[in-house]
Amino acid sequence: MTQQLNSQEAIELENKYGAHNYHPLPVVLAKGKGAKVWDVEGKEYFDFLSAYSAVNQGHCHPKIAAALIDQAQTLTLTSRAFYSDTLGVYEKYITGYFGYDKVLPMNSGAEGDETALKLCRKWAYLKKGVPENEAKIIVCEGNFHGRTITIISMSTDPDSRDGFGPFTPGFITIPYNDIPALENALTDPTVAGFLVEPIQGEAGVFVPDDGYLKKAFDLCKAKNVLFIADEVQTGIARTGKLLACEHEGVRPDMLILGKALSGGFYPVSAVLADDEIMLSIKPGEHGSTFGGNPMAARVAVAALEVVKDEKLAENAERLGKIFRSEMNNFKHEMIELVRGKGLLNAIVIRPKNGKTAWDVCLKMAENGVLAKPTHGHIIRFAPPLVITETELYDAIGRIKKSMLAFE
Ligand code: PLP
Repeated sequence: MTQQLNSQEAIELENKYGAHNYHPLPVVLAKGKGAKVWDVEGKEYFDFLSAYSAVNQGHCHPKIAAALIDQAQTLTLTSRAFYSDTLGVYEKYITGYFGYDKVLPMNSGAEGDETALKLCRKWAYLKKGVPENEAKIIVCEGNFHGRTITIISMSTDPDSRDGFGPFTPGFITIPYNDIPALENALTDPTVAGFLVEPIQGEAGVFVPDDGYLKKAFDLCKAKNVLFIADEVQTGIARTGKLLACEHEGVRPDMLILGKALSGGFYPVSAVLADDEIMLSIKPGEHGSTFGGNPMAARVAVAALEVVKDEKLAENAERLGKIFRSEMNNFKHEMIELVRGKGLLNAIVIRPKNGKTAWDVCLKMAENGVLAKPTHGHIIRFAPPLVITETELYDAIGRIKKSMLAFE
């Protein structure tokens, strides 16, 4: 049924028939390979968004594609009413990979977060002795954990929340990167967990101070509170380590993964924890028709193998340093700040003559680099981790050229 549409036609179709819950850059993509994508007219771009860090392994990675195709022709969905010959293999692989007793498989990142919240509450009632319905979870200002009602109940972003109440209770919001605020919130004995992004991605790649995660973890341990890391965006090699928490030697009590767990092929998310926590949930208390399905299981194993085989964490660490050093040394009025870790970076843009981050992104697209502003004035730069040094320098040249157009 594929029609050959030009960009204008494709954009008009989406505008007319799709909900207007996104504001895309006017680029219509038709093909991807490695760090590059092509639009319907055949123009080539470096992808510096990687589908919000889902395509860490590069577009259409052949090994992951092969796993997906093979499984799609064998068995796609069983539901969890039965066992499958793929799920246990995946569960053994991923728990060994990240060092946890058990995994609970879901689909989207938001579902991963929801699962962690439910597990945390259940654990608090069964194990910590918090009175029923009184458990609280500490979250941070500026967080992004997805779009469900409960998740936006934790949000401080008006665009995410306004007009969607009433909200789910049971959260305490504190400033990000603020240890005294955490210490204070932890004095409440009904606190069950602290949910945190090791780097706040959607908020604009906010990197907390060195030592923040470790101190936060130690404070949580002292109060028998679960440290829950949302590594949906920072995880799976993006920041230069397998997990961003590893930069500080922290092993979260609960780990939430999504996005790159499938290398961009399929919605696959997961919560990892040890038995003491994970076995709090019993049969019938949580689940998902698609969670842990055979395709997801095969794709996730292949996607995780690629990360190790191709040393993507090491590549992200090395190339991230080059990116930040190049952009920091590039003096331009519109660059207020460059920050990030590994290949999760952002430039804070200072508007000039009415030109904003959006205009910079349009100019970059013209010059063959795709990135998207977040919160109006911040541009995230997060290419697939398979990008080569030569490609990175090529892209940096295009980014600089685009900014120079605003001199
Ligand atoms: N958690 C974090 C840290 C994210 O960055 C995102 C998405 O950007 C999510 C959760 C939600 O993931 P999904 O869009 O797959 O529901």
